[in-house]
Amino acid sequence: MSIDAYLRPINHSETLLINERSSRLAVDRKIHRFGFGQSPFPVPAGVVAALQRHASEKAYLPVQGLAELRAAVADFHRCQDGVDWQPERVLIGPGSKLLIYAVMAAFTRAEVLLVSPSWVSYEPQAHLAGHRVSRLQACAEDDWRLTPAMLERFCRTRANPEWPLLLVLNYPGNPSGTTYSEDQLQALAEVMRRYQVLVISDEIYGVLHHQGAHRSLARYYPEGTLVTGGLSKWCGAGGWRLGVLQLPESLVHNLLPRLLGVASETWSCVAAPVQQAAIEAYRFGPEVAHYVQRERQVLATLGQAAAARLNEAGVTTAAPEGGFYLFPDFAPWRESLARVGIQTSDQLCRRLLEEAGVALLPGSAFGMPDSELVARLSYVDFDGAAALSAEAQALPEIFQPVMDGLSALLNWLRTQTRSVA
Ligand code: PMP
Ligand code: GLU
Repeated sequence: MSIDAYLRPINHSETLLINERSSRLAVDRKIHRFGFGQSPFPVPAGVVAALQRHASEKAYLPVQGLAELRAAVADFHRCQDGVDWQPERVLIGPGSKLLIYAVMAAFTRAEVLLVSPSWVSYEPQAHLAGHRVSRLQACAEDDWRLTPAMLERFCRTRANPEWPLLLVLNYPGNPSGTTYSEDQLQALAEVMRRYQVLVISDEIYGVLHHQGAHRSLARYYPEGTLVTGGLSKWCGAGGWRLGVLQLPESLVHNLLPRLLGVASETWSCVAAPVQQAAIEAYRFGPEVAHYVQRERQVLATLGQAAAARLNEAGVTTAAPEGGFYLFPDFAPWRESLARVGIQTSDQLCRRLLEEAGVALLPGSAFGMPDSELVARLSYVDFDGAAALSAEAQALPEIFQPVMDGLSALLNWLRTQTRSVA
């Protein structure tokens, strides 16, 4: 018997795939690694030391997460974001990715609403959980943000208004690099409240707001906002797999038991030494606070320089406000690219990798229409450890690999247009 017809149509995630593909190609040629979104910074030394001290801890921990860690996480977010995080409403998971999936899996039926562009894994996760996915197309003029009018229109005309609506909102954004202001969040919150939208507010890049001015949606819409975050981005520890989720008070009695059900029947608990080390990170002592401040300065400086370089060359991109992504739009080059056989973002990224050694992820991976010539660029291809300790005047040299990658991209683009002229 062939099982083929019974297998789910789930493929290797594009983010992890580009990382593996770039590593393979980099063995025998220079690859500018802008494809994968991994922090370039080392984990702070004090946090690594905590992991080492606890390496021999081997017991399973409580499914919801260590009480001391949940307390540290709640204190951290109360202090950073001015929101009412409480330890009993925090769930620790092996990455925020799995926590987002757990929320989706806790519903028998829900409509998942995504903004295009948005992070690659939300849609496959929703499908794995058996949910229908709807998308709202954002535009470059709005810096790829969801607007209250878009949300209002969608909610007013929904085919199944009785199903719970789960909106995933991510900011600072992957892939956009842009974020929402207080006024924009307030205006969105009004619509969310009117239609009782449940929001998974993916704030994994919140601590990496370049000015340290992240505003959590939970401030303006506490009753319907589930916030996710974790160590992967601000603490440079993607491979440690530690994510956090905060539930609103109103969902503790019904959703939390279901989430603990999903967690206990799947991952059981996050690795004990990692949870212990996370306590050190979330305590946010002077070493860690200084580290975060430096990360922000470095990412802001490089992000602005990279965006300026692309814009000067006619590849339009919004200046980033947080995280480490740009979402350049090659639309101004559409005609010239079409003449060399490039009409989709996928074709563009394939050719850029093959011919210029520049790895980007196509906009189509983020839910954009294939024909939109947009791609995600992660500006993380530099020595993060050196950048953290460098004087300002030494930064340009440390950023050179990123600037070289941009030059390779732009030279390739010019060659394409010249070759048909
Ligand atoms: N959300 C976004 C927008 C991301 O870019 C990532 C990538 N790491 C995640 C969630 C998942 O992060 P993690 O599972 O490592 O917490
Ligand atoms: N979030 C990272 C990215 O968007 C990679 C990690 C992942 O996808 O799990 O590239």
